[in-house]
Amino acid sequence: MENGLEKWRFRGNEELSVASATTIRSTVMKLFENLDKDDPRPTVPLGEGDPSAFPCFRAPTVAEDAIVDAVRSAMYNGYSPAVGILPARGAVADYLSRDLPYVLSPDDIYITIGCIQAIEVTLTVLARPGANILIPRPFYPTYEAYAASKHLEVRHFDLNPEKGWEVDLETVEAIANENTVAIVIINPGNPSGSVYTNQHLKKIAETARKLGILVVADEVYHHLTFGSNPFVPMGAFGSIVPVITLGSISKRWIVPGWRLGWLVTSDPNGILRKLGVVECITGCLNIASQPPTFIQGAVPHILEKTGEDFFSKVIDMLREAAYICYDRIKEIPCITCPNKPEGSMSVMVKLNLSLLEDINDDMDFCLKLAKEESVIILPGVTVGMKNWLRITFAIDPSALEDGFGRIKAFCKRHAKKQL
Ligand SMILES: *Cc1c(COP(=O)(O)O)cnc(C)c1O
Repeated sequence: MENGLEKWRFRGNEELSVASATTIRSTVMKLFENLDKDDPRPTVPLGEGDPSAFPCFRAPTVAEDAIVDAVRSAMYNGYSPAVGILPARGAVADYLSRDLPYVLSPDDIYITIGCIQAIEVTLTVLARPGANILIPRPFYPTYEAYAASKHLEVRHFDLNPEKGWEVDLETVEAIANENTVAIVIINPGNPSGSVYTNQHLKKIAETARKLGILVVADEVYHHLTFGSNPFVPMGAFGSIVPVITLGSISKRWIVPGWRLGWLVTSDPNGILRKLGVVECITGCLNIASQPPTFIQGAVPHILEKTGEDFFSKVIDMLREAAYICYDRIKEIPCITCPNKPEGSMSVMVKLNLSLLEDINDDMDFCLKLAKEESVIILPGVTVGMKNWLRITFAIDPSALEDGFGRIKAFCKRHAKKQL
């Protein structure tokens, strides 16, 4: 410290700056800063999953009307209960119960500020001193960031790209110990784009039961599947192992800015209640903030009135985009996609640096691609896989074609010259 600053006793919390530096958002910001301001072409954003800017991904009118009506009713101008307002909890319980072999009650539902707050609450509840949690790699770095800030140890297990990004359950058993409290499963997968089968999910549940640990099921991409495997909620196996399901309307309704999510105890045997987990969740929410009450007030209408035509239009758009992505990748020698995406909005792509002349690693690739071609792609290192790339394909298909044209030109320009 210089300039007489040593007299001040406060500092920024170094631990937090380390945790937030690893998020997708901070990496994407760094890439945006690297854009060439003189490039007249529009930037192609393949770094973050937020298609709401594209008119073809506009939220359904019934959902917009539900928000307007909720505001106009003047019924939702007050504070919300810590766990969310009852009509919203009931509507989420009904909505999720459609896919389950048992019925959820409103008491199983906690309304949160997007899926992100549901993640934060879950990790806070689980972070007893000395505890560790099992997290898949490639990962969604929000888990790592919150775990670090709560001193919850993270142990990673690899997903297998050659086998549909399935969990290697032998590794899971090998890295778990007596302090392991939970395993996180993200299905449909971000960043992998995979959709797990019923059998695989059941095996995960059985392994968790054997280890005596909870399953945290991040299902923020619930029902966003366009391949052969349908979406199966982890909660379907809630009688084998207690499950905490995390979700939101952000992705399926394309409204990430509405900040409406949920944390759900999918636990028909009531084990979470008996072990004090439910009490902790409520306690945690008692000191937290809630999503705006009028957004909650709109939830019953949003969940009940959105038509199948909206959902199938989104699925068709995502399928088209995913397949454009997969086909264009095949035309570019230095990148390969081991697994055709079947769900969510992103896919992992392997970078073959030996075919490139002046690119050091995935971060270098993405920085130069931003500068030279105004295309934003997330370097794999951000999701735990160095020299891979994560491509988010949920954008207008014509913009996606444009983006891949530029990636192809970039790779050609940087290809090793053949002797
Ligand atoms: C987008 C995303 C979230 C966050 O969802 P919000 O509802 O916007 O908070 C959580 N988990 C995964 C895997 C995501 O991709």
